Amino acid sequence: MSEKVVTSIVCPGCGCLCDDIDVRMEGNSVLQVNNVCSWGLGRFTDSKKFAQKKERKRPDGHFVLDGDSRKVVSLEDACSKAAEIIMAAGRVFFYGLCQSGNRAQAKIYDLGKKLGATFIPSEGPLVTLFLEESKSAGFSLCTLEEVRNRADVVVFWGANPIHSCPRLVTRYALFARGRFTERGEEDRKAFIVDLNPTELTKVSNRVILKEGDDLALLRALRVLVEGKKVEEYGSVKPGEVKNLAEALKEGQYIAFFCGRGPFYGKTGRVFISELIDLVRFLNKKTDCVLLPLATDFNTMGFYQTVLRNGPAEVVERSIMHDVREWVPAKGDVVIGIGNDFIWFLSDEQKAKMKEEGVSVISISSYETLSHVNSAVSLTCALAGIEVGDVAYRLDCLPVELKGFREPKFPSDREILEMLENYLKI
Ligand code: SF4
Repeated sequence: MSEKVVTSIVCPGCGCLCDDIDVRMEGNSVLQVNNVCSWGLGRFTDSKKFAQKKERKRPDGHFVLDGDSRKVVSLEDACSKAAEIIMAAGRVFFYGLCQSGNRAQAKIYDLGKKLGATFIPSEGPLVTLFLEESKSAGFSLCTLEEVRNRADVVVFWGANPIHSCPRLVTRYALFARGRFTERGEEDRKAFIVDLNPTELTKVSNRVILKEGDDLALLRALRVLVEGKKVEEYGSVKPGEVKNLAEALKEGQYIAFFCGRGPFYGKTGRVFISELIDLVRFLNKKTDCVLLPLATDFNTMGFYQTVLRNGPAEVVERSIMHDVREWVPAKGDVVIGIGNDFIWFLSDEQKAKMKEEGVSVISISSYETLSHVNSAVSLTCALAGIEVGDVAYRLDCLPVELKGFREPKFPSDREILEMLENYLKI
């Protein structure tokens, strides 16, 4: 069988959407992938993240649950059964949504609106709060290339890109050499604010470890950059906070990357609101941007779809920002798309789901816990590997995904279109 090389493919592994991937193929098999990180490699070779020798199982059909066993059915029969369950539902939830291409997301959103459904994005705890709190203060985004070319101060706050967007540090934010940062990390001051030491804390000597005291640290920073005296440092060392405050005062171009950690808990909303306000304050005298470090590859695509479709009140009413807020009730149906929905639930939620007889419908390319335990499991092709679509990078830049391997199953968008035909809406 002849070999071929497909060049400049976009990796659908995370929000970096690296566009420099070359793939050597023989027939439909991937022989070699160049430039990819070990996380992304799993996407191309159906192996687990950071463990290429462990297979990530792909389902070999569509299934419906029949008593205690799963029955293989045609796509038409699976969609018909799924439609029957949805039409009988009291409340419909769409969960996941950030691991699909943007055309599929538009279809999900359209279908959800017609059904009066609630959307629970997998990256909701980070991005929904971020967007809600940005409404009054405005956005301070930029492209990743701008970070590479200009950022001389970079702050990773509760964000470990090695586990969420691995090549961010080498391509853009830390080691990368840009137009005005020609010496790479020597031209940048990188600060890591985290709960525990991580891979990233080993490569920077500007580390601030705090014990969940994000708000106290943020408030101390704000007071310092305003040139006032701090009364309360919380659990952090005053010297470390002062170093960061000095860098923020002197920086020509400051980039904050914020992960999920500080957003959890009761102070999450206040934290993000005050962080956005700090960014606005710093922007009065320098350039300062804030990017939420979303992991799922098309998180920003989902929010683009939502923002395009407004109005804002509808958006707020129909989005639940954290799946852990959901209280399962009789008549609920959850349609999980692209994420392992059950994996993210608390034990109480799982027990309540069982007690109330909640049905799950799964649309997935992988054999996940949710997919094998769903009333209906619909198997789809992998976006960006087997079918094309569009995705938005973590900085909101749209990129074209290509399908370069023959798919065995339809795309999630095609499945949703067929499902819509069976729904009487
Ligand atoms: S950083 Fe993300 S997009 Fe880039 S190669 Fe790794 S997984 Fe793929």
